[in-house]
Formats: sequence, C-alpha cells, structure tokens
Amino acid sequence: VRKGLIDTHCHIFTEEFRSDITDVVQRAHEAGVSHVVMPGIDPGSIKDMYNVTDRFPGFASMAIGLHPTELHDGWKEDLHQIRSVLDMDMRGPHRFVAVGETGLDLYWDQSLLSEQIESFKEQIGWALEYDLPLIIHSRSADAQLLEVLGDYDRTALKGVFHCFSGDVEQVESLLHYENFMFGIGGVLTYRNSGLDRILPHIPIERVLTETDSPWLPPVPYRGKRNEPSYIIKVAEKMAQVYGTDIQTVIDVTSGNAIRLFSLETIQQDLG
Ligand SMILES: [Zn+2]
Repeated sequence: VRKGLIDTHCHIFTEEFRSDITDVVQRAHEAGVSHVVMPGIDPGSIKDMYNVTDRFPGFASMAIGLHPTELHDGWKEDLHQIRSVLDMDMRGPHRFVAVGETGLDLYWDQSLLSEQIESFKEQIGWALEYDLPLIIHSRSADAQLLEVLGDYDRTALKGVFHCFSGDVEQVESLLHYENFMFGIGGVLTYRNSGLDRILPHIPIERVLTETDSPWLPPVPYRGKRNEPSYIIKVAEKMAQVYGTDIQTVIDVTSGNAIRLFSLETIQQDLG
C-alpha cells in the first residue's frame, strides 16, 4: 500500500456514493489515499459534505462554493446562503479549507456568461477576504478566465485550476499566477487528450492530483463511476510523463496539496 496520495477534487458526498460510501472510503485507504478534498457544488452540498466529514474524521476536507453550471433561478439567493455558512464557519470551527468550486463553463451554455462572471468574482472576493485558496473550474472559457484573473494580478489570490486541460499557450499564461496549482486527473490517461504532451510544461511543484469523482474516470475504468482509489492510475501516468518514480510523484504533489489547503494539522491527526 502506498501512503499519502491526496485526491484534491472529488464529490463523494453526492447521491452516486450514497449506498456504498463506506466501501469507497475503505478502497481509498487500501489504495494509499490518505486524504480527499470535496468541493461544494450548490447550497445542498453543504449538509451532504458535513455528513461525510463527520462519518470519516480526518479523511475528508470541504470547500464551499457555487459551481458555474448551477446558476439557476434564484442563484443570488443561493450565493448569499453559501456566504452566510462560510462567514459563520470562519468565526467558528474553520472547517472549510477552500472556496469553490467556482469559475466559468461555456461548454453547454454561453448565455449566462455575465452571471457566471459575477458569481465567480463574488467568490474570488471571499477567498481574498478569508485568505482561502480558490478551486477554479474552467471549461471552454480559456480567454474569459484570463480576463477575469487579470483583474486580480498582484493580489494574494491563490488556488488551483481544477481539471486543467488547456494547451501550452494556456499553461504559459496561467503559470504567471504563481500562487496557483494545476489539478490533473483522469484526462491525463486518455490517449486522445494530448495532456501527456502538455504536462511536461508544468513543473511538478505546481501540480495536484485529483479524480473529480464521480466523473472522468481514468483508464482502465472509463464508463464506470470514478472514485478516489482510482487516483493511483493518475499518479502512475504522471510518473511516466515526468520520467520519475511514483513515490516522488506522491511526495511532491501531496506536499503541494498540504501547503495550498493548509492540511498540516489534518495530516498529523492521521498519524
Ligand atoms: Zn468538481
């Protein structure tokens, strides 16, 4: 068993995992996954995430935010509600390790771009105010993402470009944001993604491992529900791409995650 893999992006609080979450966490432990970070999707995520963290103490951390594809009627009220929970937590137990996931998604629907930007910027504000990392989702919105980020150049904003799958040009533009990591998951194992040729342009010191469970399972699990234990396939491919060994990949990327999300105390609890 390899110790210390961290799945920095998984949604194991969703209904896809309701019937067998205990087995999923057990398999994760057996695969050497020591910790996971669960990004919120909408207000309903919050109580579901509390349930998972309470059930498996020390195993799962939470982030809080509103996903760009979840801006339904009343989204401002949703944002307000999420903000209230964050405010309360920041005065109290500090259970949230990041803001997100937020960002821009123009893949299915481009009609809500201005609303997505407004929601994104609001959540960037929370991250800055509370000095929390930001989990950014960006799909089919490379130019728009750079435009928004440009407004925060030379601020203390930090975070991760989750599920990064841009080209070399985008890598170079985003590397400029020195306090940001690149989240890499199952897409790296897809033969047609080309991500294995892009990744060497990103220093491993800027990379986090993630699964995005239940979505985007790595080879050879495509077509199945993704889960944190499969992250070993991402780490193996990463070792191959960087020409290093898997333990180095685990040590470096886990170190990156622990620093970004301030997981030091949680790691100690794991002994
Ligand atoms: Zn996600």
